[in-house]
Amino acid sequence: MATPWHVLGAGSLGTLWATRLARAGLPVRLILRNAARLVAYQAVGGLTLVEQGDASFHAITGETPDTGEPIHLLLVACKAYDAEPAVAQIAHRLAPGAQVILLQNGLGSQDAVAARVPGARCIFASSTEGAFRDGDWRVVFAGHGFTWLGDVRQPLAPLWLEDLSAAGIPHEWSADILTRLWRKLALNCAINPLTVLHGCRNGGLLAHHCEVATLCAELGELLEHCGQPAAALDLPAEVERVIQATAANYSSMYQDVAHQRRTEISYLLGYACAAATRHQLNLPHLEQLQQRLIAHLATGGLPTD
Ligand code: NAP
Repeated sequence: MATPWHVLGAGSLGTLWATRLARAGLPVRLILRNAARLVAYQAVGGLTLVEQGDASFHAITGETPDTGEPIHLLLVACKAYDAEPAVAQIAHRLAPGAQVILLQNGLGSQDAVAARVPGARCIFASSTEGAFRDGDWRVVFAGHGFTWLGDVRQPLAPLWLEDLSAAGIPHEWSADILTRLWRKLALNCAINPLTVLHGCRNGGLLAHHCEVATLCAELGELLEHCGQPAAALDLPAEVERVIQATAANYSSMYQDVAHQRRTEISYLLGYACAAATRHQLNLPHLEQLQQRLIAHLATGGLPTD
């Protein structure tokens, strides 16, 4: 019998992974927040994945964090700010040698989880797949992409990557996962906060070229000081390329703010500014961007962390 996948968080990415793994015939269990969420889930009986307009229903078993079964393979699909507290709730169920896959955007939450479960093998992931919820327990697969996975402490690829291949989840084992996460963080810092402050789609930043270029220069300096020179390579050109290629899109942070949802600021721009302070680096534009964003969130009645 294959090792069951426990998926913590039945949101956009959690559902995208759980449904594809289940469709491949792999055992999957969904861990929901609490008994009330489990009752709501059981009333519907499964998750729906909408792909190119076609909806498929998957009757995946749901459970609460305090169910007894030991967990060997855990996919953490919560937001960055929920990851560590959510893992803390199920930490007592992790079997010796358990593996924990962290899908969170940004940096900071992965180390918090790893510190919470020191006996587990923590695998960091960086994904360009896109999904959103169009109802409770229903997810639309909006953008095909790729997921890189890696372990900063142990370079050997895990056996369960075969499950991802069977499930049709495009992926690659990466020896430099931290570089990928830093690079994505830098791209996010150069684009997302400005789309919120200027109230525009990504393409709207073409009119703010100088502001973007100044941020890229500071972000490049930060990456160098943080021992991530590879993540700094040609950063301004890639930021420009991403802005052009995604000109019609609203950034994830823009969408969070527009929907009055908490952002992941502390794990993106907040993490970058904290790293600059740690390295005694003076990055005035990045600092100012953080202050402007925090003020904007506060004015909108949103959490500033
Ligand atoms: P999401 O749709 O908001 O889903 C998060 C889920 O976590 C929610 O279902 C939430 O439960 C659940 N949760 C929170 N605390 C929990 C707890 N203690 N126990 C159990 N479940 C808990 O978020 P998402 O869009 O999938 O994003 C997850 C991460 O992936 C983020 O870091 C995001 O930046 C990253 N990411 C997302 C995408 C994307 O396209 N969506 C792409 C790349 C990266 P409730 O439903 O009860 O609130």
